[in-house]
Amino acid sequence: MYAIPFLDLPPLHSAQGTVRLPGSKSISNRVLLLAGLSAGTTIVHDLLDSDDTRVMLQALRTLGCGVEQRGAQWHVTGLGGRLAVHEAQLFLGNAGTAMRPLAAALALLTATQGGCFDLAGVSRMHERPIGDLVDALRQYGAQVEDLGQPGYPPLRVSGPAPGGLALERPIRVRGDVSSQFLTALLLSLPLVASERDLVIEVEGELISKPYVEITLNMLARFGVAVRREGYARFTVPRGSRYASPGEVHVEGDASSASYFVALGAIAATDGRRVRIEGVGLESIQGDIAFVDAARAMGAQVEGGPNWLEISRGVWPLRALELDCNAIPDAAMTLAVMGLYANGPTRLTHIASWRVKETDRLAAMASELRKVGAEVDEGPDWLEVRPPAAWRAASWHTYDDHRMAMCGSLAAFNPAAGAAPPVPMRIEDPGCVAKTFPDYFETFLGLVQADAADVPVIAVDGPSASGKGTLAARLAQALGYAQLDSGAIYRAAGVAAERAGVDLDDPRALAQLAASLDLRFEGERILLDGQDVTDAVRSEAAGLLASRVSAVPAVRQALHALQLGFRRPPGLVADGRDMGTVVFPDARLKVFLTASAEQRALRRHKQLISKGIPARIEDLRADLELRDARDRNRSAAPLQPAQDALSLDNSGLGIDESVELVLGWWAQRTPYRA
Ligand code: C5P
Repeated sequence: MYAIPFLDLPPLHSAQGTVRLPGSKSISNRVLLLAGLSAGTTIVHDLLDSDDTRVMLQALRTLGCGVEQRGAQWHVTGLGGRLAVHEAQLFLGNAGTAMRPLAAALALLTATQGGCFDLAGVSRMHERPIGDLVDALRQYGAQVEDLGQPGYPPLRVSGPAPGGLALERPIRVRGDVSSQFLTALLLSLPLVASERDLVIEVEGELISKPYVEITLNMLARFGVAVRREGYARFTVPRGSRYASPGEVHVEGDASSASYFVALGAIAATDGRRVRIEGVGLESIQGDIAFVDAARAMGAQVEGGPNWLEISRGVWPLRALELDCNAIPDAAMTLAVMGLYANGPTRLTHIASWRVKETDRLAAMASELRKVGAEVDEGPDWLEVRPPAAWRAASWHTYDDHRMAMCGSLAAFNPAAGAAPPVPMRIEDPGCVAKTFPDYFETFLGLVQADAADVPVIAVDGPSASGKGTLAARLAQALGYAQLDSGAIYRAAGVAAERAGVDLDDPRALAQLAASLDLRFEGERILLDGQDVTDAVRSEAAGLLASRVSAVPAVRQALHALQLGFRRPPGLVADGRDMGTVVFPDARLKVFLTASAEQRALRRHKQLISKGIPARIEDLRADLELRDARDRNRSAAPLQPAQDALSLDNSGLGIDESVELVLGWWAQRTPYRA
């Protein structure tokens, strides 16, 4: 996950590959709640690992359910309809799928069994309405207190209800603000249905109907068969009781699939395909209907029960006018697809966007405008006209996972003919943790950019100047990949020594370098599949490297390997010739130096801390020898690029150096806030 303030995406032109989707949020949290209310243990497979499910798991623990992770499975042992704990404070983050049904279930359980529970969340949760649900529960005689603003969390539910619950009359709930109110009642009424049929009447037109279908489907799996008249009247039959089905598999998230369907429609060109696994045409999730909308815009979609394959069909995409009431979440993706359409895309019946993680209508309009689109917005509709001129935007994400994921799709402006192509900044990319913690890693694994568009920061300088540490910190701060080119020459040196190649035989060395089987896996370095990390990091390898790297044919042989590290979103490369030879077009070049004395001291400290004995004078002599060889060799001698910024860090701590260079970098980025 990218826990960084922003992630810069270069202009992207194509995409292909396979993605396995994380579990559906809606199904995951319903399954957890039902497992927590049922008797017995439910084994849950493919549960989504996200903020919202974590919040629900924690709430179940607090309520006394057995919650255990075993490998990829979760084992949840439920309450069997009896409160195990009668007082607790539940913190539910920004998870509507936890707040609403838990409030309803605990209101009814305390009304009949006694107890007192406070339910609170983050401040945005306290701005998301729950009054209609509270009113419905009060009709039954449940005691629900507003602890803050009336109609919004935090809430206190307590009991027993004086005189018991009045369950005779149908309970009425509004359906036109959020379908989660109806879902919350459907999920909780079976807890008090032992004596009589319980009827729910929906007032106003129910929005987001497909989510209610998921609820009914899950209820059926846990043994409760709800009778219904359309979407107007639902009856929980007398004698309903939750029974664990034993095991449940959670489908991949169909709303998350929308980003990859869109990705295929926009960028899977020339025989490329984006394949989605974990959700398919037989999904029980309403957002699978997004596939029809994407097809209407021109996407080529094939699919089976639990897979989809998408490629670009019509281009530009066809502008669309669509009532999105049934697919409110996935409809956000259509708004971004509108950037690539041949006319205005108008999405209607989306008032529910205003009460989600943020006011999504206002948010989407504002961010699409930054990119250059013309956007009109009404109380419950949005119209997007593609940009006449694309602009490099800093896409604000409002702590809303879907805003962040949508933003990534705006980076394909080269495909829409943007001249010049522009990069996209996604603010707070970590907010995708709500439903798809690895979204950006997954996305970046599928996309391609022109190498020239992928930014490189080159950090060159003499041995032990701190390049590696600085480069690693910069890469981490920006979410970029890192190339430690020294490690490549070190590995070549180690390989030469192991193969018994004469270090004075340039042809043999070049041959060896050309066939080097070298892989980087995180911190580990693998040579011919063997872990050589320690050998490569040794002082001896540094000296070997400085000899083999002086051979021009060796440098030539290792050139392409280094260029291969230049992938979206960007690269920080450190070495001797990153800015001069390998990435002469690097957007920022830093030449890092420190006095020989300082460098020897630092290296000494490093070695001693690893338990490797060393003498400062010897280290300094070695460094000076290597510096001289690196500077005086004919092939790619160590020297600052003409346009490099020099940084002598003899007197600076690493944090100061990082700050300084990030400041230089900020001056070279074009984003509009
Ligand atoms: O930076 P490090 O100490 O790991 O580099 C080891 C040796 O590899 C250097 O002394 C230098 O001779 C060589 N090297 C190079 N070009 C690079 C990186 C390292 O010649 N880009």
